[in-house]
Amino acid sequence: MIEYRVGSRNPAAHCFDIELHIERPDPQGQLLRLPAWIPGSYMIRDFARNIVEIEAETAAAALTPEQIDKSSYRLPPLQEPVIVRYRVYAWDLSVRGAHLDLGHGFFNGTSLFLEVVGQGDAPCRVVIEPPQHPGCCDWEVATALPRVEGRDFGFGAFEAENYAQLIDCPVEMGRFRRFDFEVAGVRHDMVLTGRFGCDVERLKQDLTRICAQEIALFEGQAPFERYLFLVMVTDDGYGGLEHGNSTALMCARDDLPQPGMKPDETTEGYRRFLGLCSHEYFHCWNVKRITPAVFVAPDLSREVYTPLLWAFEGITSYYDDLILLRSGCITLDDYLDLLAQTITRVRRSPGRLRQSAAASSFNAWTKFYKQDENAPNAIISYYAKGCLIALCIDLTLRRRSEGRVSLDAVMRSLWQDWQLGRRGIGEQDIQQRIVELLGEDIHDELTQWIEQPGELPLESLLQSISLRLEWRAPADSQDKGGRSDKPGLRGWFGTQVKDEDGGLRLQSVIEDSPAQRAGLSAGDLLIAIDGLRASRKRLEHWLRQADLARDYELLAFRRDELVKALVCLDAAVPDTAAISVIDAESPALGQWMAGD
Ligand code: ZN
Repeated sequence: MIEYRVGSRNPAAHCFDIELHIERPDPQGQLLRLPAWIPGSYMIRDFARNIVEIEAETAAAALTPEQIDKSSYRLPPLQEPVIVRYRVYAWDLSVRGAHLDLGHGFFNGTSLFLEVVGQGDAPCRVVIEPPQHPGCCDWEVATALPRVEGRDFGFGAFEAENYAQLIDCPVEMGRFRRFDFEVAGVRHDMVLTGRFGCDVERLKQDLTRICAQEIALFEGQAPFERYLFLVMVTDDGYGGLEHGNSTALMCARDDLPQPGMKPDETTEGYRRFLGLCSHEYFHCWNVKRITPAVFVAPDLSREVYTPLLWAFEGITSYYDDLILLRSGCITLDDYLDLLAQTITRVRRSPGRLRQSAAASSFNAWTKFYKQDENAPNAIISYYAKGCLIALCIDLTLRRRSEGRVSLDAVMRSLWQDWQLGRRGIGEQDIQQRIVELLGEDIHDELTQWIEQPGELPLESLLQSISLRLEWRAPADSQDKGGRSDKPGLRGWFGTQVKDEDGGLRLQSVIEDSPAQRAGLSAGDLLIAIDGLRASRKRLEHWLRQADLARDYELLAFRRDELVKALVCLDAAVPDTAAISVIDAESPALGQWMAGD
């Protein structure tokens, strides 16, 4: 048994203090190592960089662990138990790291727990103590780690079967707003920290429907004995990370359902929050269990490559909002707007013509997770494109099989495989399963959608379930797609901009756009358009009224150098999608909405 004790002698300094008790260290010299990345977030983060002190002792003597590389330490050869004490700086307010102040504490095991290399299969005991500060004495603790000592939500002791389980159970501590609900006989808890108002009954009701819908999709049985949603509420936070029987989420306080919200009312922010909960919960099946073979026991010291993130993030992104529709949390019109926004996002990325969804997946580590100003031209999101590929697969299966087979059936079939063998899947297994269930060889289409860059046959497939996809020019610079009564802009400039003091900062410039042809570049600060100070309002006015036959003079700063550009706008591009219902009574539409 390996034992970790987690506390903090000085939470105001944002540091956790950890004690690691190793009964039988490797007599050749025990290696200790922190992961370089956390499963679910495909970027090298080198968590050990936050270790600020480390020392060790046996009953006989104090020792100095020797640092081997950026993530590892080695103890001298020992024949007796050893205690390693170290301090970890925790000031990353995200679901991927660790964060501690006098308001709350949060950590992933990947940030705090040094692996005792060679004993990864040994059970681990974790004792979590309250931070040593009078302000923390009324705190509670929430984690999906099985508890062995202490009351529910109290500080105490927990036990993990092995290191993999230990680092798959994030821990939140602080003053909680919490509630629980039951789905399919399984207790679910949501624990929220932060300052916020919330209609808890409404949230509980909607989450119950979402979880019930997803469990029903996967044969009516939850793959865990208890489930925990951890939510950090901040001003403008957004993000989530999936785990086997819990999830860590961040949300903006205005996205929570506010007291007084009408039963049939949802806001854009609340739909986004429910979509996030639905997404991470779906991952309990898709990626935490049904998973690429290379993720089954991943090497956490370096990148692990897979071309399959389009399926694990894309199919999950397809179902996250679809489940909101199927469970009655949002209306069909609202759902179609969300789908139109995803279609718009892909259509506005010229990178879709350069990079396939499989290549985007493979390069997640260095491209998707490290996006720069050229990202719209160079890459395509495996979330957004993957979601649309999932839609195309679902609608193709439904159409070709006349409603007999759907993506639901594919997911269930992959789930049955996992239950039987608990093995990861190979690179062609999903395509193979689709073809098997349909009984028709559509490999060529699947390969084209997944492994080639380019467009998807969205119009004709949506039409097969009585939905019409139409393209229009954006109504303004905030127009993300979906229904709109506003007239479209007349001209196209080809940039993304951010308001800044003194002008507009060009965030990105689309290849071959009027802005690029005029010599403007991402990073430039646009200060004047046609003799007037540049602002978002001025830009939109220009794009609405512009004469497409003449040149306009724009002034910008590149670094501290003034740049003059003559811009002749193109006609606005119909890059904004809207989806409407052709026949609300269509049986194909009804079946797709109901599922199966
Ligand atoms: Zn995801």
